[in-house]
Amino acid sequence: MPGFELFGEQERKEVNEVLETGILMRYGFDGARKGRWKAKELEQEICSQLSVNHAQLVSSGTAALTTALAVLGIGAGDEVIMPTFTFVASFEAVLSVGAVPVLVDVDETLTLNPEAVRAAITPATKCVMPVHMCGAPADLDALKAICEQHSLLLLEDACQSLGAKYKGKYVGTIGDAGAYSFDFVKTVTCGEGGAVVTNDAQTYTALDAYSDHGHDHKGVDRGADLHPFLGYNFRISELHAAVGLAQMRRLNEFLSLQKKNHAIVKEILSTIPQISFRKIPDESGDSCGSVSWFLPSEEKAKALVTKLKAENILAGNFYWYDNNWHYIRNWHHLKNLSTYNKLNPEQIDALERLSSRDFSASDTIMSRCITTNISLTWTEEQAKEKADKLKAAIESVF
Ligand SMILES: *Cc1c(COP(=O)(O)O)cnc(C)c1O
Repeated sequence: MPGFELFGEQERKEVNEVLETGILMRYGFDGARKGRWKAKELEQEICSQLSVNHAQLVSSGTAALTTALAVLGIGAGDEVIMPTFTFVASFEAVLSVGAVPVLVDVDETLTLNPEAVRAAITPATKCVMPVHMCGAPADLDALKAICEQHSLLLLEDACQSLGAKYKGKYVGTIGDAGAYSFDFVKTVTCGEGGAVVTNDAQTYTALDAYSDHGHDHKGVDRGADLHPFLGYNFRISELHAAVGLAQMRRLNEFLSLQKKNHAIVKEILSTIPQISFRKIPDESGDSCGSVSWFLPSEEKAKALVTKLKAENILAGNFYWYDNNWHYIRNWHHLKNLSTYNKLNPEQIDALERLSSRDFSASDTIMSRCITTNISLTWTEEQAKEKADKLKAAIESVF
């Protein structure tokens, strides 16, 4: 699944080119950098590979979401609809711009249930933020239709799904903006990094400025740049971008390795009549970084997790229902409003009501779900062996 598994010569070469000049910053120092612009090159690489007009690199996926929300004009008191199953970064970004995360149920796609989204819309709703979880797309046609009908923005959290597609287009490139993460465990890594993509030129101009203190980047002298709007510093460094450039050039290599091993694991798991698979709105768009599947009941899922632990084969298999970082059940800090900084009144009101909200529809899905990660380094034999062991463990709980 993660690109770091195949870190090698190409990555080292790009990093060394930056080390040779010592210009670790992505902007300025035009003479001293000897024509080396790793961040710019990576942005071009993202645009050409994903067929999107603009890409803005930033320091993380969280910074990408924050930057996207800010430049789309989402702020104090605005409601952003997002799923109960995601990484904490999704709501962190929403809170950081002063907006209100409105959590709604997921369905068997492990992404936003469009009907639950429709039911959560209020006059304060500004944006729908689907999260393409575990490498596969959300139901974008349905979500897009809702956004169009209610004049809402569509921001895709594609942090886990670089390379996944929906009806022929890359996820992240379909909404008003999309965010990717290049942290250490994502499909492509920079070490730390992220990107926002958009097809809208005005949005891009704002992304470019916001992520660098508001610099308009129009002149050759950085110190003389204008700052028509406030911004922050979410810049990526040239060293991080250099790693990402080498990795991004290998995206298709990573995806084809994933597809090969995914097919082996899925075929073996398919022979177990008691389990079913995650529904994927466009099966051919799966990036195949993992396989998600359901046991018939919570009890069976828990029994299996115990078994996998006992046999020391739990690694690479995720039971999200008990996970502290990806599912609402254990987001106690969010539900208890345990923040260092003060929240605004709308945020306080919404978060105080969160504990009493009914998420049983999500619980029914997540309490039975296991995600099995697919490694880039497995040989065919190793993939088979992993899947056979998992299959034997599953069969033992029935
Ligand atoms: C990883 C991730 C992020 C945040 O990315 P970072 O680069 O770690 O800040 C956001 N959303 C989801 C769904 C993620 O998996």
